[in-house]
This record gives sequence, structure tokens and C-alpha cells, in this order.
Amino acid sequence: MTLRLFNTLSGQLDELAPADGHSLRMYACGPTVYDYGHIGNFRTFLQVDVLRRFLKLTGTPVRHVMNITDVDDKIIRNAAERGIPIGEYTPQFVDAFFDDLESLRVERPEFIARATEHIDKMVALIQKLEAAGAAYKTEDGSWYFRLAAFPEYGKLSKKDLSGIEDGARVDVDEYEKDSARDFALWKAAKPGETAWDTPIGRGRPGWHIECSAMAMEFLGESFDLHAGGEDLMFPHHENEIAQSETATRKPFARHWMHVRFLLVDGKKMSKSEGNFYTLRDLLLKGYKASAIRMALISVPYRHQLNFTFDGLVEATNAIDRLRTFHVRLVAASLPAGTSEAMQAAAEKARVAYFAALSNDLNTADARAPIFDLVRAANTALDKGEFLAGDRDAVLSVLKDFDAVFDVIEDRDAGPTERAVAWAAQEGREIAPELLARQGLTDTEIDALVAERTQAKKTRNFARADQIRNELAEKGIVIEDSKDGVRWKRK
Ligand code: AMP
Ligand code: ZN
Repeated sequence: MTLRLFNTLSGQLDELAPADGHSLRMYACGPTVYDYGHIGNFRTFLQVDVLRRFLKLTGTPVRHVMNITDVDDKIIRNAAERGIPIGEYTPQFVDAFFDDLESLRVERPEFIARATEHIDKMVALIQKLEAAGAAYKTEDGSWYFRLAAFPEYGKLSKKDLSGIEDGARVDVDEYEKDSARDFALWKAAKPGETAWDTPIGRGRPGWHIECSAMAMEFLGESFDLHAGGEDLMFPHHENEIAQSETATRKPFARHWMHVRFLLVDGKKMSKSEGNFYTLRDLLLKGYKASAIRMALISVPYRHQLNFTFDGLVEATNAIDRLRTFHVRLVAASLPAGTSEAMQAAAEKARVAYFAALSNDLNTADARAPIFDLVRAANTALDKGEFLAGDRDAVLSVLKDFDAVFDVIEDRDAGPTERAVAWAAQEGREIAPELLARQGLTDTEIDALVAERTQAKKTRNFARADQIRNELAEKGIVIEDSKDGVRWKRK
């Protein structure tokens, strides 16, 4: 199965395959840890998760590196405001970020690289650029990359950069939307700022050099794929290419993937618009982490996702349908044999699912045939036409679906518990739905459900009803059906 993925560099769909014929070497820009992650950030990390999971599902192991930017202008500013060193300021946000990834079931990259732990590699790269005549030091002791040293500058973003002023400089870490200037590689220490003593002077690295140095450290000078949100294409990724290719004279990443920004209620997400949400904000409102995952991945990465609360409810219901069906399918007692129609439906869904993801990771087209299959199988089950030999065929399609989407297995209890604990610590308000769901583990629920079945058998209906009500208060619904008893979280 070949994956065709849009490549920003070539401007077309290119086949994505490992150059070494074995594992795909990929780098995805990670977070700058000055605050909690918002849903826009997580949309990008989730789409990269979709990519890595699909590669693995189709037999390609990945060697995936993600950086943590734990030193930059904003971090230094925020830490200074609180009067603490950056090393005391960032860990809470690093921990929160990994908790959030776990809640969203984003797989851990094989390598996590913290900028502050790789300063020597950045310094070595700057020295290499100096030797190539592409880096210069200013009077204050900062270092800059000379754009004129890289005539191909602009090849990724396809910007017309003919008006570049030779020697005009920019030193900020934050996004510079339209200006192409010599950019900071190294910033001289200002009094009181975090700094490292190095052979190129006392200071700290610029943001762009971080990613170049760490990508090459873990993946080599040339590697398969580089990913990030669309805002990073220019200047961050353009600058990474310029530095890396000037230093090595080799192509840096062959394939570039950019995730389109999400809108919230049709608008750019911003604190002043009141439509800015961290993952934690949504969990505390009572939405499940699985629903947030589903909503953020169901729109393909190159399409604009308009995030709405209706969309989250839709995602919640969609997951509910899948989970209910899955439980029914596993528990059903079925007549012997196989049905040709069901076998064909399962195969058709499987083929359509893989074809959609192979086509530029089209998650929307990949979802549709799964729900068609669920509908067809439910109808067949209702009519007694679903046979024992069909069960594995359908379960195997669901398994491939969940290898990427990962929403069917109910693991929402963990994020719920973490959200409640965090809210208590931060004094944040918690939605009643969330509190209701908290408190019982799957094993405890199973035990209560079994006790209720037993109570019914011994005609102790008072106890059976009491258990049902107790569970209902905690948001757990028991359903009795001809296939047996099952429960689910509301
Ligand atoms: P940052 O921590 O700001 O460097 O962002 C981490 C990642 O999230 C980067 O890949 C950004 O491009 C991405 N990102 C930031 N805002 C959004 C958004 N609204 N939609 C999608 N991705 C975003
Ligand atoms: Zn980066």
C-alpha cells in the first residue's frame, strides 16, 4: 500500500516512502512550553498521529522526533514576570502537554528532544555555517544567518522574495509573517536572562536553529518527512531549510507536510474573541477526550476544520454508535455459517478505508465506509442474517479503523480523572456531567453489573434496582438485551 501525501515542497501529491527502504524518518515541530496546549495545537499533533499510525498499520515503522521548545522569548518573559528561572517555569507545561497527549491517545514519538539539552549541537551547526561564510556575529555578540548565502530561499513557501534587503535583520522568535531577513541563530545574553557559555559566546539559541540541529542529530542530514502547522511554513521551515542545506549541501527533508489551521465557530481562535479553548477547557465542560480526538481528526488535515460544539456532540454520538455496535458484535450469539453479503460488505469497507487514507490521509472518506458497514451489520443482526463466521471479518475492519482513529476502546476514564484532579488544584469549575462520570473504574462497574445480574436471578429485585440507580447517578447506563447485559458511560 503506497501513501500519497501532499508535499508542500513539490506542490503535488508524492508517494511517501522511507529512503532507506525500512523505516520512515520524520520530524514534527513540537510545542513551545509557555502555556497549556490549545485545540489548534492538538489538531496538528493529532494529524501527525494519524500519519504515523497509518504508516505503521501499512507496515512501515517510523522513527519520529518531536522537539520541545523550552527556551524562547515568551518563556523568558513569562518566567521573568514570575521571578523564577525558565527551568522552574517550563516543567509544569511539559508535564501538562504529555498528559494532554495521553488523554487524546496521541502516540509518543520515538524521540523527544528538549532544546535546552542540545545546545552543543546548535552551537556546532552555527560554527559550521560560519565556516561556510553564511553566519556572522553582530556587535552585541548575537549571530545571524546571511540570507544571501542561500539563493534557493523561498522554495518551500513559494514566496516571491526578490525584494530581500541584504543585511536587514530580525531577531524575534515569534512568527514574522511576511518579512524575509537575516534571522537570528544565536542571541547574546542580556542581563538576567538564561544563557549558556559556549565557544561562540554567551547566549541562547534562536528558535529555527533548534529544529535543524535536533532533526539532523536524530535523523541524519537528509530525512524523509518534516511536519508542522501551516503557520510554520514561513519563516520557520524556510529558515530550517536554509540553515541545514547551507551547512550540509544536501537536501534536508524530502517531504513537507503542513496542517491547515482550525477555525472555531467560523473565526480564527483568539482569546479576545472568546473562542479560545485549551484541551482542558473542553474536558472540564464535560466533553470526552475521545470525542475531541474524533472531531479534530475527522476533517482531513489539508481542509479547514471549523470546530463547533455541535461538531463535538456529533463526534460523541458517532463514537457511541461504534462502541455500542462493537459490544453487540462481540456478545451476540450467532447462527453458524458465513453470509456472502456480510463478507462482501466487510471487504468493501476495508478496501475503501485503506484507499481513503492512502489518498492524502483522507480521514473523512475513511470514516464513511466504516459507518456504512456498521449500519449494514446492525440490520443483518436484527434480521438474524449475521452469521458466526462474519464476526471476525467485521471485527478485523474495526480493528484496522481503531489502529488509526483509536476511539472504540473506552479509555475516557483516565482523562476524566486527570481533568478533575487538575480542576481541583487550579480552582477551576467542573461541569456536572464530568463529575457524574468520575469515580468508578471499568472493573468496579463490571462487578456491580454482575452483582445485579445475580440479584435478578435470586429475585432480589430491590437490590438490582438499587444498583441500576446507583450506576445511573454516576452516568453509567445498563442495557438488557437478548444478547445479554451491557453497560456504557453516558
Ligand atoms: P506552538 O507551540 O505555537 O509552536 O505550536 C505547536 C504546533 O501547533 C505548531 O505545529 C503550530 O503550527 C500548531 N498550531 C498552532 N495554532 C494552530 C491552529 N489554530 N490550528 C492548527 N495548528 C496550530
Ligand atoms: Zn520547528
